[in-house]
Amino acid sequence: MPSGEVEFDGAQAFLIGEAALGIYYTLENLTVSRLANAAGAMGLARKAHLEALYRAQARSAFGKPLVDHPLVRYDLTDLAVRTAAGSALLFHAVEWFDRVWHETPPYSDRYHYARFLSHLTKNRTAEHGTAATQLAMEIFGGLGFLDDFGIARLHREALVTLIWEGTSNIQALDMLEAIRKKNAHEDFLDEVLPMLQRAGTPEADRTRQRLQETLKQLASLDADDAQWFSKDALTTLADAAQVALLYDLAQQAGERYAKLATLYARRFIEHESYPDWALDDREVWWPIEIEMSA
Ligand SMILES: Cc1cc2nc3c(=O)[nH]c(=O)nc-3n(C[C@H](O)[C@H](O)[C@H](O)COP(=O)(O)OP(=O)(O)OC[C@H]3O[C@@H](n4cnc5c(N)ncnc54)[C@H](O)[C@@H]3O)c2cc1C
Repeated sequence: MPSGEVEFDGAQAFLIGEAALGIYYTLENLTVSRLANAAGAMGLARKAHLEALYRAQARSAFGKPLVDHPLVRYDLTDLAVRTAAGSALLFHAVEWFDRVWHETPPYSDRYHYARFLSHLTKNRTAEHGTAATQLAMEIFGGLGFLDDFGIARLHREALVTLIWEGTSNIQALDMLEAIRKKNAHEDFLDEVLPMLQRAGTPEADRTRQRLQETLKQLASLDADDAQWFSKDALTTLADAAQVALLYDLAQQAGERYAKLATLYARRFIEHESYPDWALDDREVWWPIEIEMSA
């Protein structure tokens, strides 16, 4: 990708705000661009998902359409789960920042919480976008690697979302600061725990336990040890939020989202395979009808 670094050497400049607030202007801008990065990552993931659904219907291998093979359904389940969960987290983080973006220092607790969510969101959506576009490439088989089809390009573009606007290490450190200095995790628990309690499934209960254990562990560590574990904690907290948000979404958007929440928890909180009830549950892995062109 063509890019460049510009140096302003002896250039004339005008102060456009208060000098002492410069760092805050920069950080506010960074939160916006991190959310934009997350939207970009999920946009790429959803486009890759759509392309993979089309291909799974159009292409036959070993005598039947790809979609009739159990492992392809497993892959499509992974795409459905990641795109729904990442999008739910993204829109939730955007909604929170929409409520507080006009604040100036000293920021409220609500502002610190919105920023905390942006770290969780930026990192996990970039991982989902990268994994989803890679998996979609694989569903296209050899064609997935060729430039004649768009899939390889989607993956190449997704890779930069991990780096831009701060790598996962930087998101982890910023999350740690929001927890240790601003107690942003308290608002997080206040919001997420009731959602998980309302869901009342074993997966929601285990997610709640995992979330509480992770925060307890972080609180018990000195600064260096906390950094060592912070990237895993960043992922776990984001995953707990996604499970909670998907269960919550099910109340307005239908039972499919409760199923996706359970699947997400099984895969990313419990680190188990997707359960086999999903194999014949078309509602899970085939979210839309696709018209095949001639
Ligand atoms: C195509 C492209 C376009 C870009 N466009 C812009 C732009 O328009 N404007 C702009 O401002 N920037 C832009 N960037 C810069 C981009 O935001 C940075 O490259 C990115 O944030 C990573 O910073 P860095 O390159 O300085 O990496 P480094 O800071 O050198 O990081 C290298 C590695 O060290 C790790 N690391 C660094 N510090 C720590 C730490 N304290 N603890 C643990 N690990 C650490 C990082 O996680 C990373 O893995 C662009 C980058 C690219 C690739």
